[in-house]
Amino acid sequence: MKTVHHWIGGKSVEGTSGHSGPVTDPATGAVTTRVDFASADEVDTAVAAARSAYATWGTSSLAQRTSVMFRFRALLDEHREEIAALITAEHGKVHSDALGEVARGLEIVDLACGITTQLKGELSTEVSSRVDVASIRQSLGVVAGITPFNFPAMVPMWMFPLAIACGNTFVLKPSEKDPSASVRLAELFAEAGLPDGVLNVVHGDKVAVDRLLEHPDVAAVSFVGSTPIARHIHRTATGHGKRVQALGGAKNHMLVLPDADLDAAADAAVSAAYGSAGERCMAISAVVAVGASGDALVAKIKERAERITIGPGTDPASEMGPLITKAHRDKVASYVSGAAAQGSEVVLDGTGFTVEGYEDGHWIGLSLLDKVPTDSDAYRDEIFGPVLVVLRAETYEEGLAIVNASPYGNGTAIFTRDGGAARRFQLEVEAGMVGVNVPIPVPVGYHSFGGWKDSLFGDHHVYGNDGVHFYTRGKVVTTRWPDPADAPAGVDLGFPSNR
Ligand code: NAD
Repeated sequence: MKTVHHWIGGKSVEGTSGHSGPVTDPATGAVTTRVDFASADEVDTAVAAARSAYATWGTSSLAQRTSVMFRFRALLDEHREEIAALITAEHGKVHSDALGEVARGLEIVDLACGITTQLKGELSTEVSSRVDVASIRQSLGVVAGITPFNFPAMVPMWMFPLAIACGNTFVLKPSEKDPSASVRLAELFAEAGLPDGVLNVVHGDKVAVDRLLEHPDVAAVSFVGSTPIARHIHRTATGHGKRVQALGGAKNHMLVLPDADLDAAADAAVSAAYGSAGERCMAISAVVAVGASGDALVAKIKERAERITIGPGTDPASEMGPLITKAHRDKVASYVSGAAAQGSEVVLDGTGFTVEGYEDGHWIGLSLLDKVPTDSDAYRDEIFGPVLVVLRAETYEEGLAIVNASPYGNGTAIFTRDGGAARRFQLEVEAGMVGVNVPIPVPVGYHSFGGWKDSLFGDHHVYGNDGVHFYTRGKVVTTRWPDPADAPAGVDLGFPSNR
């Protein structure tokens, strides 16, 4: 059986803790791989490698950094298919979806290739007599990234390319459920010429994560995962004096007004709710149907959902794959099984679904729940599976109030033909990313990604300008070169003022 090892100091390093975890092919349910789990000492070794590499990488020229980045970009482009296959084998998502994930990760590498312009400082000359002021940004040192299972390549690439282009060195702790893609990315980066120790990958569980959160040589932590863990990461790492961005879970709402093109809205709802089996932080998991749109919209969603082909991610005919683990599959199913008793109308029940020849896979079909009460578990919890809940509202205001009462505020969307209503929604909705007739408004690489409320703890979104700011700190340099002809200024105990 294959074993995934750590990547420390530019090479594969076998674990010594004696602990490892299983990696399962979700389509067959078979354990295909084991992954080493790092002890606190092994995490210390990775941080030490990153710290030692920072001594030279932190002072490397922008030209050197960007030339490595451009080579990494080319290698990534060449290896898209291979990385996507690794993702499908361990995560289960269909190959086209895995390729899409690699493409979105590549966008951030594109951004990192242009770091020369992102890091340009500002200079004001002659702010006072013969005094200039320059604002510059400098790297932090060793930074850590902790990432979730649902995007095993893209989410790490939200973090390390930009952090490294800014001059930091990096320790990544990817999800233990699908660890292979992150190691392959590190190998390709090394092949591109990245010096040893600049990017390190340690695998593991809470032991490894908690050591990173308290390690005195880790300057900043980027986290993406569920809300309870995001809260723990933010609290613990800020408690240890670190800069933290911790992105959490979501319950993304789509508000459909009665004037919307209901066919377009139904297409969008089905794609956004059931794509990647609903295991996306930007999945639409709640539709709020306003006024008369409700019955027709639910009928159109049902009709489309019934036509989706579910099967192994390796089969080109499959549109949706299995869930990540058997335990997660059972938890998702429990929300559907318990929905009627809590007041929902069950329009589609996917709990009995299986795939012939793959009976041990983590399968569940598409579920659709209508008229879902806001105090039911299916509405309150992030289900993270192919379960779409529909709520009804009489007016725009009532619909908006439902969206804004959610503790989450990651992404949201409005479907309407009314520009005025869409504009109001943009300004009034409490979420970090808003789509107007766009169901999954994931920002492009040069804008930043992040939610509000329980979907993000910290001040910075990831990538874009926010990413560059997160991975650098500001410094302002005030310079005076007196002219030899100037009279000596003399001693002046007054508060310095500009003249
Ligand atoms: P998770 O929170 O269980 O795990 C994320 C990471 O934290 C993993 O590396 C894991 O090993 C580590 N971890 C788990 N338990 C821990 C603990 N007790 N202490 C310390 N570390 C721990 O999340 P997941 O199940 O891998 O991913 C799915 C979740 O991630 C969903 O909630 C989803 O919404 C969220 N997500 C959010 C975004 C976003 O941008 N907001 C993006 C992707 C995923």
